[in-house]
Amino acid sequence: MNRVLFLFFLAFYSFPLFSQTELLTFFERSEGKRTPRYQETIEFCHRLADSSPLVSYTSFGISPQGRDLPLLIVDKDGLTDPTTIRSAGRILLLVQACIHPGESEGKDAGLMLIRDLVTKGAGHRAQGAGRRAQGSENDIEDYGSRFAGLIDHVSILFIPIFNVDGHERFGPYNRINQNGPEEMGWRVTATNLNLNRDFLKADAPEMRAWLKMYNQWNPDFFIDIHTTDGADYQYVLTYMMETLGQMDKGLTSWCDGLFLPEWTSGMETAGYPVFPYVQFRRWHDPKSGLERDVAPPMLSQGYVALRNRPGLLVETHMLKPYKQRVEASYQCLVTTLEILNRQFPEIKKLNQQADALVQTPAFRAQPFPLQFRLSDADSIMVGFRGVMYDTIRSELTGGLWFKYSSIPETFTVPLFSTCVPSETIMLPEAYVVPVEWQDVISILRLHGISMKEVVHDTTILVTSYKFNAPKWRSNPYEGRLPLSHIEFNSFSEEKVFPAGSMIAETSQPTARVIAQLLEPKGDGSLLSWGFFNPIFEQKEYFEFYVMEPMAKQMLEEDPELRAAFEEAKAADSNFIKNQWQVLNWFLERTPYRDTKRMVYPVGRIEGR
Ligand SMILES: [Zn+2]
Repeated sequence: MNRVLFLFFLAFYSFPLFSQTELLTFFERSEGKRTPRYQETIEFCHRLADSSPLVSYTSFGISPQGRDLPLLIVDKDGLTDPTTIRSAGRILLLVQACIHPGESEGKDAGLMLIRDLVTKGAGHRAQGAGRRAQGSENDIEDYGSRFAGLIDHVSILFIPIFNVDGHERFGPYNRINQNGPEEMGWRVTATNLNLNRDFLKADAPEMRAWLKMYNQWNPDFFIDIHTTDGADYQYVLTYMMETLGQMDKGLTSWCDGLFLPEWTSGMETAGYPVFPYVQFRRWHDPKSGLERDVAPPMLSQGYVALRNRPGLLVETHMLKPYKQRVEASYQCLVTTLEILNRQFPEIKKLNQQADALVQTPAFRAQPFPLQFRLSDADSIMVGFRGVMYDTIRSELTGGLWFKYSSIPETFTVPLFSTCVPSETIMLPEAYVVPVEWQDVISILRLHGISMKEVVHDTTILVTSYKFNAPKWRSNPYEGRLPLSHIEFNSFSEEKVFPAGSMIAETSQPTARVIAQLLEPKGDGSLLSWGFFNPIFEQKEYFEFYVMEPMAKQMLEEDPELRAAFEEAKAADSNFIKNQWQVLNWFLERTPYRDTKRMVYPVGRIEGR
């Protein structure tokens, strides 16, 4: 058997050859009008894995309705675990689609790209003669240069559908503002949770699985692909990276100074001019000026910034035809891969430096920003490629709405994007979470936070917080009743932490996540989501026949208390009208008061 024939035999035997038609995606077969259902998507993922040794199919969890959470691994040597891929010198790119399943461009673009990578690029080279024998040599020659090298230094993790259950709530009426595909999935999970608000609190089983996957792979770069809502403009694709203050400074400089200039110019050259994903200062009115703000860490690109990794949020424009949006997403992935393959040593180095920096005392010596606000003092003038529009007064509602034309117009408008910290904190050496708050401990574990267990009941000197007049939102949000107002005083105390309590030191790569989760004023803290709501409830009560005489006696015996009581009455004229409130005021000044109520159970262990 000659060598060529042998290789042909081997390729044919190990990896069944698929015809070009069999490796056309559902999207392509529909001429760009439709997107596949879950089952079709999974079958295609398996076809890709079966067709190439470079592609592996795996699942990173199971959804509440019992579906596999799919993950494709693309590696030039067919490696399937992070350790060996890193040992081979490659970095890891995680691409995620369909966290909002109605926004399915990333799924269709990613499946096409992986197919092209392994049939027209590196995959072809690796598979030897088998492909050529198929008579697709011309295609390979045409495309080879475009795809060659895209996975030389980067391995890809691809989640075609993250929110798999929401994806199967499939129909033509799921996105009222959107121009195709003909049918699509639904925004939220089967339990009505938005996964793109769940990165910190991790209520959804899908998110818990995602966090475990993320810890295991710790990707070097992340892309999350969505579709906009909002105004009309010319751009097919807009983007956001967390470069406004939440991320490590070295990575921020690399994103702003290198990645984004190269990526935006690469996209423009490829025929897709891009613009940051902005809000308008006045609703839907681009001429009012543009705003970019720090992304909260409950969102994907905000979360990976806390984990010291760059994340690119992609938002294709809902009014553009679906085919064009998928093609733009495809180009976005190609352009990103080109840059990552050139920049991989730098990314590797910057990610390591960012992880190392947060572990140093110098990092804890700086105020840590928990929240930001957009400064309205600072703006730059930019050209925004919008479309002409009229403002219409509605006869139906009396309100205003914007009627967009198809006439392009570039508006020169101010862009506001300077964000300043509005809440800062000095990080302690560690936080200690009492053993009884098991839900909180398990969330910390999910975020890859290392903790030390308190082995015996131990008295620890901590800073504690006592809350004043907390308030809650009037409606549930993402399945919880979050706080809307958080104020507290801090005080030092020696407190017994029972065996099994967990100590999370801040000298670890996840320091930013620890702070945002455990500082009550963190952006998306567990306290703000309501994880600690029971501490605000009063659980023991007095009878009036006990408290009335006791209060009278306290006033008679304690002139200071009498003065304080007069002050309380003077400060709030309603105070005295509420008998329960008045007597409770006295209870709080007796030894019967609940000393744990309103006190944050998590303690800060300050540095020496
Ligand atoms: Zn979205």
